[in-house]
Amino acid sequence: MRMQNAETVTFGGGGIDRAAHLRDTPGKIAQLRAHPYSRALALWRGKPLYDETGGCLAWLAHDHPVLCESSIPPVFLGLDQGKPLFAFDISEWHDPQADAEHLNSFADSSRNHHPLLPNSVVFAELRAVMALLSPLDAEQAATAKGLFAWHATHGFCARCGVATTVSKAGWQRSCPACNAQHFPRTDPVVIMLITHGNQVLLGRSHGWPDGMYSLLAGFMEPGETVEAAVRREVHEETGIPVGPVSYLASQPWPFPSSLMIGCAGTALTTGICLDPVELDDAKWVSREDMAETQSGHNPAMKPARIGSIAQFLIHNWLSDTLG
Ligand SMILES: [Zn+2]
Repeated sequence: MRMQNAETVTFGGGGIDRAAHLRDTPGKIAQLRAHPYSRALALWRGKPLYDETGGCLAWLAHDHPVLCESSIPPVFLGLDQGKPLFAFDISEWHDPQADAEHLNSFADSSRNHHPLLPNSVVFAELRAVMALLSPLDAEQAATAKGLFAWHATHGFCARCGVATTVSKAGWQRSCPACNAQHFPRTDPVVIMLITHGNQVLLGRSHGWPDGMYSLLAGFMEPGETVEAAVRREVHEETGIPVGPVSYLASQPWPFPSSLMIGCAGTALTTGICLDPVELDDAKWVSREDMAETQSGHNPAMKPARIGSIAQFLIHNWLSDTLG
């Protein structure tokens, strides 16, 4: 089974041509940057530049002075109908107004304004604006955020410890001492719509806001299939055995580097034996109660965040459009 509308998930289906063959062509990146239609996306500490008036990303010309604050070479994102797109990390800029406590948390609703930009153009937490972006913009923001998070935490060779350099237009790091090549990592996470008849299984982690529940999810382990990871996570967290498992849809989730693999699974029994270390609570919710929750009319439970694959899968389950 595969969802017909799987690629309409937020961060999916942007359709850019990544033009990977150009990343390593000598002189080509400089030529693309000089292209008259070339555009640049600036990110500051993981927050993309967002145009509040247009409800879209704010793409800058390559000679915009804000981009001079970039400390690493720009990343070549690809070609949008022949137009070269790049991303610049300007995290070294200091915003005296920044809310350091909430920066890069999903509770970060603050906007950061650079003095060289118009008032309506701000750095915004991606989860706060993701559902407003076009598929192309959302894919570019996710790609750039994921790549810059990787660069920020992988500056040294994992084999010999020497500082590495950025290569292949931002898509690789190379070690000058041992010649090891390092590639951006993606961490697969399974997230599962576990059902039993008319009910869906939801859980909540410790520390989540009151009333917030979501689909169960967990990181895959080495040596595991997607199906095995789904069954293991559900059994570990709730004690429930899962029978048939099928793939539904996937979502790049750059917080910081996950790929969410959305699956459907059929529970064989319904008795919950909670692992109190992993989860704060888990429960079965009927289709009717879930519909009420998603419409925001259930005082006991908050709806899943729009733009998350959990919300996407629950919405499609309620609409009977998983097939
Ligand atoms: Zn090395």
